[in-house]
Amino acid sequence: MSTPDRPFASYHLWSLIAPAIGQERWHCQMRRGFIKARQHEPEVKALLTKATAPQRIGILAQKGVYEFHHNRHLLNKSDGVEKVAQLLKLSNTSYQVQQRVIQILKKYQDAPLLRGKNILQLTPGDEGFPKPILIEQGDSYFRLYAAMDCIFIDGDRTLHILDFKTGKSAFDQRQALVYLLAARYLYPGRQAVASFYNLELGKKSDLIKITNHEFENLKYELANIAHKHQDDLHKYQEKNSNFSQIFPPNPGYHCRFCPFNSICEFASVTTSAHTIIPV
Ligand code: SF4
Repeated sequence: MSTPDRPFASYHLWSLIAPAIGQERWHCQMRRGFIKARQHEPEVKALLTKATAPQRIGILAQKGVYEFHHNRHLLNKSDGVEKVAQLLKLSNTSYQVQQRVIQILKKYQDAPLLRGKNILQLTPGDEGFPKPILIEQGDSYFRLYAAMDCIFIDGDRTLHILDFKTGKSAFDQRQALVYLLAARYLYPGRQAVASFYNLELGKKSDLIKITNHEFENLKYELANIAHKHQDDLHKYQEKNSNFSQIFPPNPGYHCRFCPFNSICEFASVTTSAHTIIPV
């Protein structure tokens, strides 16, 4: 059996290991098992590649912002939203996705958050894994993955990392902390702040910063996450049949919205979740 990759951490892994505040009841470690230990199995892979409507909306919204700023004249044109929708090939998506993305584009054209900003980086949102950052913690290393949507310069030199959101979920501060940690390595010596912006609600978060002390704690926490996950992968590779002990299930109503409910033997669902789309 092959050895699991070297330890890594990301906001996604953090969110799979520990629930966000208020999400404890719905948190299920077995989802991490499917996503991060069994992702190469054909039936798991097939489920993972099927983007849900909310995921598709998130990706298209980010891409829409990217297109507006890459073709800046479209921000001022009466048919700008239509043109961006064509660039996104929105007509190939479902009615629900089209409607919500059009609303997002209209809202953005009315109040373009990045207009006039000194943009350092703005990604289309579909470019896959970013390059890992090697982080030393104690006498070991872990790789940090942090895919940032947008960075612009605030004031004179401060980096402002902005993450775009869609849907109704609350902002998870941990994501911003991971970005701020990454920024320390990618842009050493630069001050950085982070914030979220919900493109559907037009809602901004407060600015998030970290002190040097918080930075050390964060590194420690992410190193623990990386090593815990690597240990779990080792255990799983040693004995696949222990899957449910290593990644314990937490069945409940939330299984209806879990992408793995069709293959999970612990799923608590009576109807297929594929027809129910949470917003
Ligand atoms: S279907 Fe339920 S128990 Fe199974 S992985 Fe998903 S949330 Fe966990």
